[in-house]
Amino acid sequence: MKKVHVFNAGPCALPQVAIDNAIAALKDFAGTGIPVISVSHRTKEWEAVMDECRALWHELLNIPDTHEVIFLGGGASLQFLYVAMNFLEKKAAYLDTGVWAHKALKEAAGLGDAYAIASSKDRNYTYIPKEFEIPTDLDYLHITTNNTIYGTEISEDWDCPVPLIADMSSDIMSRPVDVSKYDLIYGGAQKNVGPAGVIFAIVRKDALGRVSRYIPTMLDYRTHLDKGSMFNTPPVFPIFVMNETLKWLKGIGGVEAIEKINKKKAELLYAEIDRSPLFVGTAEKEDRSLMNVCFVMAPGCEALQDEFLAFAKERGMVGIKGHRSVGGFRASLYNACPLEDVEALVACMQEFEEKKK
Ligand SMILES: *Cc1c(COP(=O)(O)O)cnc(C)c1O
Repeated sequence: MKKVHVFNAGPCALPQVAIDNAIAALKDFAGTGIPVISVSHRTKEWEAVMDECRALWHELLNIPDTHEVIFLGGGASLQFLYVAMNFLEKKAAYLDTGVWAHKALKEAAGLGDAYAIASSKDRNYTYIPKEFEIPTDLDYLHITTNNTIYGTEISEDWDCPVPLIADMSSDIMSRPVDVSKYDLIYGGAQKNVGPAGVIFAIVRKDALGRVSRYIPTMLDYRTHLDKGSMFNTPPVFPIFVMNETLKWLKGIGGVEAIEKINKKKAELLYAEIDRSPLFVGTAEKEDRSLMNVCFVMAPGCEALQDEFLAFAKERGMVGIKGHRSVGGFRASLYNACPLEDVEALVACMQEFEEKKK
C-alpha cells in the first residue's frame, strides 16, 4: 500500500491497532463466530463492550460520579438541538467562534431566547473573544472549545458563573479536562475518538429535567441515561471502534501522555510556519489550536498555493487543503496522527522552499 500521511479534519486518522481489531471483529466478534455488525446488542458480549467503553471514558477523562457519558447517533449537529431541548428554559448565550458555534446557536434560537454573547466574526474567526460579561441569569453559556475550521482553541476549562456547555467534537481526549466545570460536554466521535456515526454526551445528571417543555423521547437525555445508551439500537460498529481507540489511548498513557505528544506535534508545525518565508499562520498565536493548524501562503506567494498542494500530494500528504470557507491549508493533528507524519509535512514544506529558491 502507498505510504500516506493523513491530516484529514474528520473523519480522521485512527490508530492502526483499532482498525486491525475492528477488521478482526468483523469476522468474529469476541469469539462468538458472529461478525460484530450482526451481533445482537442485547447479548452479554455486546454489553461488555458498552460497559468497557463507558468505563474508559470515566477513567481517561476522570469523569466524576455526578456525570455520565451517553453514546448516540445523529452527529454533533443533532446535539445542537439536544442542547436547547434539554437545557434552554429562559435564556442562553453562545460564544460565536465560527460556523459550528453559529449552527449550534441557530438551533437554540429556533426554540427560545438564545443570542451570541460575543463574536470573532469581524476577523473571520481567527481568535477567541475574551472581553465579555456573562449575565448570571442565563440557563447556560455554550462554547465550542476547538474551532476545527479556523484553528482556534479554548484550551483551559473556564470558571463560569452559569452552567457551561461545550462542543468538544474536535479536541475531546486531546488533553485532561475538568469535567466538573461543565453541565454538558458533547461532540461527534469522528475527529478524535472514533469513526463517524456515534456521538458522546457527558451530562451532569442533576442538571437534567429542569426545563418545562415537552421533550420528544429520543431527544431527551434522560431516556438514554436511564437505558445505558441502549433505549434503541446503538450504533454498534462505531462504538466498537471507539472502544478500541480508547483502549489504544489508555495503552499509551492516556490524555496526559497524548497532550504532551499533541503539543510537540503542533509546536513543530507552527515553528516551521513561523520560520518559513513562504507560509503564515492564520489564527492569533495565543489562541492557536493544537488540533487543527491553519495557514496560508505568505503575502506575495499566493500564486504558489496550488503548486504546493500538488507538491505535497506527490509526497503522500492527504487532507491539507483548508476548509472551503477559508481556503489555504489545514493540517489536522488529532491524537492518532503520529509525530512522524508532522515531521514529513515539515520536511515537505522545506523541500518546497528549496525548490523555489
Ligand atoms: C465536525 C464538527 C461538528 C459537526 O459534526 P457532525 O457530526 O458532522 O454533525 C460540530 N462541531 C464541531 C466543533 C466540529 O468540528
